[in-house]
Amino acid sequence: MVLEAAQRLTRDAISQCQLARFNTVLKRAVRSPFYADRLGEVGATDVPLPSLDHVNDLPFTTKDDLRASYPHGMLAVPKEHLVRMHASSGTTGTPTAIFHTQNDLNSWAELMARCMHMVGLRPSDVFINMSGYGLFTGGLGIHNGAERLGCLTIPSGAGNSRRQIKLIEDFQATAVHIIPSYALHLASVISDMGRNPADLSLRIALIGAEPHTDGIRRRIEELYGVKAYNSYGLSEMNGPGVAFECEYQDGLHVWEDAFYLEVINPETGEVLPDGELGELVLTSLCREGMPIIRYRTRDLTRILPEPCPCGRVHRRIERIAGRSDDMMIVKGVNIYPMQIERVLMQIGEVGDNYVIERYRDGFMDNIRVRVEVREEFFVEDMRALTGLQKRISSSLRDEILITPKVELVEPKSLPKSEGKAHRVVDLREDNA
Ligand code: AMP
Ligand code: ZN
Repeated sequence: MVLEAAQRLTRDAISQCQLARFNTVLKRAVRSPFYADRLGEVGATDVPLPSLDHVNDLPFTTKDDLRASYPHGMLAVPKEHLVRMHASSGTTGTPTAIFHTQNDLNSWAELMARCMHMVGLRPSDVFINMSGYGLFTGGLGIHNGAERLGCLTIPSGAGNSRRQIKLIEDFQATAVHIIPSYALHLASVISDMGRNPADLSLRIALIGAEPHTDGIRRRIEELYGVKAYNSYGLSEMNGPGVAFECEYQDGLHVWEDAFYLEVINPETGEVLPDGELGELVLTSLCREGMPIIRYRTRDLTRILPEPCPCGRVHRRIERIAGRSDDMMIVKGVNIYPMQIERVLMQIGEVGDNYVIERYRDGFMDNIRVRVEVREEFFVEDMRALTGLQKRISSSLRDEILITPKVELVEPKSLPKSEGKAHRVVDLREDNA
């Protein structure tokens, strides 16, 4: 089967195909006004790269470049060749638009189907896609992959938890795509109905679209009695289908025949050796409509240098540690939200939701972590709660080196979103 063969490419086959495809993509890209200029500046408009070592000489592309060339500056084909547009979910500033030809959509669906096949989905599965449809790529992107694989695909979209539960039950769904924070919320709705999420027919959950820790994954697996696999992608590189966990759940294989993968030092732009933590940089190797070269994702990860026990040689990245723009500097210390989540998820009494509030404390910035406590622990016994609060705060200090304020709150009292979770709230303006 083609999906199987693509997962089992040899290293040589990947390298050869990468060089050929990189050069094809460069040739296409210079047809766009943006890359005609950008590649023109480094004299890379008509000479093919002799080897992949020369990728290093090419300029990066950033989110700001996409904004500056909005809406059509990066188009490499006439508009009439396009069949779809998506936009990034970013909430600030000018949006970014990504365009696809029919071939682009076909290869995206193929990649997505490959991910699903890797984790054991088959045409016999009944698949529910609980992500928002529309401009967000987790809707149609995942949907088309599931159909390509041959699953009965139910486009349930985001929210409306009771309807989601009914759909799972009525159609005996076996697999679901769901944003991790929503998976936890949905489980609590099911429990409130006096039911056990593990009694549902689900066996596989694809989770992604937002940073989450292994602790959150394990909770989802336990709650629903499923295997949950991390799915990574971004609109600029199609959307989902860029990197995906295999059955070993230890890092995400990047489909290197479709994406050229680099990790750089975000300060200097220097390419880092495998194993070092830095910013992920990706080049789309198959795109026609809007090729993007050396895109700085701002996502922080490392390439795992060891071979994966599954035998697939597409290199793996570690789960995303955070975004370079998520980093908070508090009392001179660099802190990422995922460090906080990792600590929280190791504490049994901690519930399913938390929020990190940044606020001004006199002249200093500080953070307050508001944590939902599980129903069974949210008792009136003040002493136990104070003890828990102290325990969380000292575990956090061990990880992030400062002692944040910790506030324990009732289960289900913190706001949740139907899309990607907003874990950090900035209150500093209000406190200024
Ligand atoms: P968008 O293009 O708006 O869908 O957003 C893409 C961004 O979502 C990525 O650059 C990541 O920051 C984040 N993201 C997507 N999938 C994951 C994942 N599995 N783990 C962590 N972050 C993710
Ligand atoms: Zn593997």
